[in-house]
Formats: sequence, C-alpha cells, structure tokens
Amino acid sequence: MSYNNQADYNDHQPSAPPPRTVSLMDVSPQPPDKPLPPMPPGHNKEKNKFFTYFLKKPGHSKIEISSPQNFSHQMHVGFNQESGEFVNLPKEWEVLLNTSNISKEETKKNPEAVLDVLNFVMNEQTQPGVEPPTKYMQHDHDDEEDDKDDSPTAPSAAPAPPPRPPYTKTASTRPTSAALIQAKVPGNVPQASRNIPKKKKKAKLSDEEVLSLLRTIVSVGDPKKKYTKFEKIGQGASGTVYTGVEVSTGQEVAIKMMNLSQQPKKDLIINEILVMKENRHPNIVNYLDSYLVGTDELWVVMEYLGGGPLTDVVTETCMTEGQIAAVSREVLQALAFLHKSQVIHRDIKSDNILLGMTGGVKLTDFGFCAQITPDQSKRTTMVGTPYWMAPEVVTRKQYGPKVDVWSLGIMAIEMIEGEPPYLNENPLRALYLIATNGTPEIYNPERLSSVFRDFLAKCLEMDVEKRGSASEMLQHPFLRKAAPLSSLVPLINAAKEAAKH
Ligand code: ATP
Repeated sequence: MSYNNQADYNDHQPSAPPPRTVSLMDVSPQPPDKPLPPMPPGHNKEKNKFFTYFLKKPGHSKIEISSPQNFSHQMHVGFNQESGEFVNLPKEWEVLLNTSNISKEETKKNPEAVLDVLNFVMNEQTQPGVEPPTKYMQHDHDDEEDDKDDSPTAPSAAPAPPPRPPYTKTASTRPTSAALIQAKVPGNVPQASRNIPKKKKKAKLSDEEVLSLLRTIVSVGDPKKKYTKFEKIGQGASGTVYTGVEVSTGQEVAIKMMNLSQQPKKDLIINEILVMKENRHPNIVNYLDSYLVGTDELWVVMEYLGGGPLTDVVTETCMTEGQIAAVSREVLQALAFLHKSQVIHRDIKSDNILLGMTGGVKLTDFGFCAQITPDQSKRTTMVGTPYWMAPEVVTRKQYGPKVDVWSLGIMAIEMIEGEPPYLNENPLRALYLIATNGTPEIYNPERLSSVFRDFLAKCLEMDVEKRGSASEMLQHPFLRKAAPLSSLVPLINAAKEAAKH
C-alpha cells in the first residue's frame, strides 16, 4: 500500500514512542470496584420488589420488549431482597444472568440495574427492519449476534496486546424497549427517569424503496471509470473498504463497497451517508461521492486516512499527555461542530477515530448518529458500544449530546491505558458496573498531571448538568498542553510496525 502524503513527513521526526508491552486486559489487577451507591431511603425495607415488563406474544422466537401498541403479555418480575433471587425472570434472562459474573451481592444492591442490562443484552439479539430515514434516522438496530457472547482471548506471552474482542463493536437496542422498562415498586410511582416516548412505530421500507431512496442520494455514472487502482484495506460489518485513485486528479480515496442485499441494516448506511454529506468539517472524514453499482452494490467514496484507526495507536504504543491532549482537542472540535448542528454521534471510541499520515485526526462511522431538535432534545435509545456508554444511556435515562463527552473521557482512558475500563469483564457485568459505579477509576492516577485528571473528571462527570459540553471542554486548560499533530506520526508508524509482527 502506498501513501501519497508520506512525502509530507517531517524528516526530523521524534524517535519512536515506547511500545505498549502488556495488555491490562490480561495481566493487571482490576482496580477495586467503587462502593456501590446506597439504596434510596426506604428501599431495603421491602423484601420483594416488582418490576413490570411487557413481553411480545407467546410463541415469538425471541424475548423482546415490545412497544406499548404491540404488547400482549405483561410480566411482573419480582425480586426477593432476602434471597437475592428474581422471581418470574424469563429463562433466557436467567441463563444470561447466571453466566454474567454479576454477584448475588451486586444484584441485591441494584436489581433494577441488573434488569436494565439484561434487557439491553437480550435486545441485542433482535433483528432490525428497514425504516425510512427521518433527518437523521432514529435507530433501533442491533449489532451482529456474535457481539454478545464472545470472551476476550488471552494471548500467549506475546508482547503486543490481543485484538479487541468482538463485543467492542457497536450495538444498540430498540427505542421501543426503552419505553417499556418501566420499573415499578408496588405502591410506588414509576420512576421518573423511565420515560415512555410516545413514538409511532415507523413503517418499514421494502428493498425497492431503499433503492429508490438511495437513487436520490447517489451520483449517476460508473465509478470504475472514475477511480482506479483498488486495493483492499479493511473489512467492516457492512462492507469492504478499498483505497482507490481518482483518475482525473490522482487523489487517493477510500471506497466502502457494500452488497445491499446482504445488509440487515440498510437504514444505518443511508444515515451514515446523509450525516457525512451534510456535516463537513476538518475533523470529520469527508464524504466525496457515492454510487449504485450493478443491481445491488453501493459504493461510498470518502477521503482516505492512511494512518489507520486510533485503536492501533492506543493498543500498540504509549501516548504522552501532549499527544492525548492533541487528539482530544481534535475530537472535541468535531463534536462541538456536530452538537451545534443538533447531531449526537453516539459511538465515540478509538475505533471510530481515523488518523492521517501527517497526524490529522478525524471522526468517522456516523451510522448511529441521532438528530435532535429543540422540541426533542433528549433520547432514550440505548445505542453505542457498551464499554464507552455513558451511565445515563445504560440506565435508560433521557440523554443528550453530553453522552459523546463521556465517551471521549473513556477514549482518553484508552489513550492512557490501552483499553476502556471493564474490557476484561463479561459485557453484562461491564454494563452493570457502568450503571452502578459511575465515574470509572484509572490505574495510578497520580502519574497524571492534575490538569489532565481534572479534564477526565469533567468528561466523566456522572451529573450530566455538571459534565462539560463539547464546546466547554474545548476551553479546558488541559488542551493547552497539546503537542503538535505531527507528534502523532511516530505513534502511527510504531503501530504499523507492531502490526507487521
Ligand atoms: P461497519 O461500519 O460496516 O459496521 P466498521 O466500522 O467495523 O464496520 P468500516 O467502517 O467498514 O468498519 O471500516 C473497515 C476498515 O477500513 C477499518 O479498519 C477502518 O479503519 C478502515 N477505513 C474505513 N474508512 C476509512 C477511510 N476513510 N480511510 C482509511 N481507512 C478507512
């Protein structure tokens, strides 16, 4: 693979950064869990709590929390505070809970959080339909089935950390399910935070309708004449990414080629194109063009970033605070821009940050973006990737753009430690810990400057009101420590070198 802009490199690049030699996932002890929050007053006086769940018609192949219009079966899940056991828990949920490593003690402390995360993981299994795009579409999609039950594989004695486990992929649940987690304690009013969005079920689009919609977005013509020298660089869930060269300009581009007939989530693709097309910014991977090729292939042409994803850098090298500040500033610039346009990204993580070969930092993967309006400035859908999710998403409170700032804080932890908190936990327990522990602890915080610790604390603030917005975080003094973007180049090269071995 060749990179056009390699010539731009500064000849006097700083020396290679120290490689990351261990994975916290495998060898480091877990930081002690923070004490779990105390029960609300009066809470533990009750021996049995009851939670109302609505299940789809019996006979439905998967347990699924349905929309208020659809439910046909109401189920009360009880919780016995003394025994620490749920009563009436569906079999599938029980099996999942038994393999989750969530202890009885933890369940007793917060049974509602346990039900929330069980519901999240169970909903990951439901298959989405295709929906017409609103601007931008509101997703209720689920990730691949393999996301939910794979465990991280321990590497042998290799110095490089293992690849990310598959469940670091994006996942989401149906918004209708969020509507129905209306936990009730007998005699109590349903919790205020569990809102029931009065959302109409969206009509599904047929394949032909999807194609018609795409025809209004894509360019006419044969991209095989416009671009040449295709080289495969990556494989995503929805398609294969190639580099190509624009014949008329010689510009190197990235082209994501997707077989539409194999797409279970066509609306995400349309969403991604619409967001990229309409939100151009120096810190966003720019959309260049798109084409329908043949009967069912979609090509999306984007600017090419040869430095690879930030994940490669965080897993293979150690970053300085200056480099972390530089990346954080660039991502915050993209977020402040998106949030100003009322767009929440909802899947900020190192995998979705692409690096240019001269150190440019750009945000990508807009499939899960949500458009909010002044009237509807909050969302309840649980979407994103579990480890990076803000607590208000996991606990299904209403949330807004600051969920992206939380995820940026988790990404800053990735830049310090090589991975997000709880990555070595069972995903279900990780969700439980996010919901109940609040701000995660980092290893040896004393090694960080106080201004960096303050930056982390402001991003990872549980109280959303107190958490900084993207534009506020851009003013944080930590960003004054930012090293030049060219300082990322040795990290990129070191990560590429490590990948070869
Ligand atoms: P999906 O979005 O289909 O769920 P994904 O997010 O895992 O999948 P893709 O976006 O398809 O992955 O990308 C696949 C690979 O191609 C990734 O390694 C990514 O880093 C790389 N890639 C994607 N877009 C670009 C780009 N514009 N420039 C350089 N590399 C890219």
